Amino acid sequence: MRPSSTTNTTRPFSTRIPTKGITGDWRSLLSQSISTGTAFREKTSFEVPHLREIIDRYPMRINPYYLGLIEKQGDPVYRQCVPDPAEIEDDRGYEDPLNEETLSPVPGLTHRYPDRVLFLVSNRCAMYCRFCNRKRKVGKPGVVTGATIREGLAYIRGHREVRDVLLSGGDPLLLSNKMLFEILNQLRAIPHVEIIRIGTRVPCSLPQRVTPQLTNILRSFHPLYINTHFNHPTEITPASSLACKRLAEAGIPLGCQTVLLKGVNDDPAVMGSLMKKLLSIRVRPYYLFQGDLARGTAHFWTPLEKGLEIMSALRGYTSGLCVPHFAIDLPGGGGKVPLLPGYLIDKGKDFLILKNYEGRIFHYPVIADD
Ligand SMILES: *Cc1c(COP(=O)(O)O)cnc(C)c1O
Ligand code: SF4
Repeated sequence: MRPSSTTNTTRPFSTRIPTKGITGDWRSLLSQSISTGTAFREKTSFEVPHLREIIDRYPMRINPYYLGLIEKQGDPVYRQCVPDPAEIEDDRGYEDPLNEETLSPVPGLTHRYPDRVLFLVSNRCAMYCRFCNRKRKVGKPGVVTGATIREGLAYIRGHREVRDVLLSGGDPLLLSNKMLFEILNQLRAIPHVEIIRIGTRVPCSLPQRVTPQLTNILRSFHPLYINTHFNHPTEITPASSLACKRLAEAGIPLGCQTVLLKGVNDDPAVMGSLMKKLLSIRVRPYYLFQGDLARGTAHFWTPLEKGLEIMSALRGYTSGLCVPHFAIDLPGGGGKVPLLPGYLIDKGKDFLILKNYEGRIFHYPVIADD
């Protein structure tokens, strides 16, 4: 163990931004977000070269709750929310890495798989993640409008094969309760829509949004699932735990879609700790995504082997419930492809050779199918 004095726990702005608490009105927290260079200089002690240029291209929003989770410059929380000059200096990657636009029959709705659609209902988020694969869209006006939402609903109504609708964005939980109710109500009125899912980072990035009023609305549209998005164990706080507790107690199964990010969570110990903590707040790890090849995010990319290494370090060493599916969402619209470390070593005529989690080799007979 290192002496604790080497751990830097200074919070350079804690005197100015008091909130790490579990109370606070989410709208007022959101309105105190840092979204301009001036506010950034006033409210933090950090310096980011070319900040104006970066945020002209990719909006910044750091709300006081999430800002309060930063312990020091460059730490995993900082890297997720504070702009980095690499966003404009490194132009590797694609504007629309998953070809969502070409697979959109109507704007804002992607129909890639046979029985389910991705439906963008908000272009705003409680915090603009610097690694976002929809960097080109989030926080920009005109992307999601009343008209795109009406068209999306009409598309779903007209396609009986759609039994599962994933609301996404942006963050659907940044809509007002009234608007969210309206959309959910219209979706529930479509007989072939069996399942509604909401993808939201709010339980992590602005947990105060998860009010009893909100959970009361959500619980009236079951079966409703939520996939949230935590990337680092320090994001699991009393406030985020309370948000997840409220959702779980409203009968909403909670999953987590974590993104593998260099300098944030590309470490088996960090990831293991995150997955275990998620289970303790009743969130079941669902996907671990290889970072998408979105332009402006190359400084977060990890080699594919890193994800496999992390998966090998989870499986067998901890509860199977802690183990997400590791997947790449293929560039060009190929969809999600799961990847596993190589447990099947070889296949002979009479037996297979398998490796267990500790690397020990076992034989398993080939069973004829007749
Ligand atoms: C990820 C995704 C889905 C949902 O995939 P699941 O594996 O069912 O969670 C659906 N549509 C699109 C376009 C997606 O990107
Ligand atoms: S919350 Fe999701 S959609 Fe919004 S910026 Fe973060 S990753 Fe992108």
